[in-house]
Amino acid sequence: MTETQKKATGKGTARHTCQMCGRKQGLVSRYHILFCRQCFREWAPKMGFKKMD
Ligand SMILES: [Zn+2]
Repeated sequence: MTETQKKATGKGTARHTCQMCGRKQGLVSRYHILFCRQCFREWAPKMGFKKMD
């Protein structure tokens, strides 16, 4: 396995993206759904989640 492949598969997070907007940063996983923090803040109240801050 090359270094590039290790980086691509090592942490297993690079392929995860926000289900709503496709962002890769600040992902939050709840109920098998991946949100970025921005989308989570927008959707959490609508889905009945409480604030996490
Ligand atoms: Zn998002």
